[in-house]
Amino acid sequence: MIDKFVPDMYAQSIYRVNYKKLASLGIKCIIFDLDNTIASVDQDKPSKEAIDLMFEIKELGMRPVLMSNSGRKRVEPFRNGLEIDSCASAGKPGQRNYNKIKEIYKFSSEQIECVGDQFLKVVLGANIAGMTSILVNKISKKDRFVTLFNRFLEKIIILILGSRDLFKKGKYYD
Ligand SMILES: [Mg+2]
Repeated sequence: MIDKFVPDMYAQSIYRVNYKKLASLGIKCIIFDLDNTIASVDQDKPSKEAIDLMFEIKELGMRPVLMSNSGRKRVEPFRNGLEIDSCASAGKPGQRNYNKIKEIYKFSSEQIECVGDQFLKVVLGANIAGMTSILVNKISKKDRFVTLFNRFLEKIIILILGSRDLFKKGKYYD
């Protein structure tokens, strides 16, 4: 069970991921988390850097998709600004919307990579779905209120993973 929390890759931020390598490995779709992955919880529209990154990913022949547990009102300005498809109120790590994305775009789990800052949402959700996962450090210290309990659980998960040499904070790998 605990191995379901081990990310396949770990990068400092979404800007430190080798997307060219992912494309060469056959990844066709990258599912991005929003809060604290693409933007801090205080930001209400995407940065130029994020917009450029989505463009770059499309140029590599992959489809970026935004998938967030936040509501439509929060997600919409990012969907529009980044010019990518999105799924709001996604219910991660629940599997319904992972399946929906596979169905809509006709990708297999092996062709999908999930990127985000939370073990309990992104890493667990992707691993259950049979997709690969990339953990990134959260953008800012500030979290949504609903996330605070998950961060507490995350600390315990990191301790357990650390004791088994499965994960160490700041020790990036790909
Ligand atoms: Mg997040």
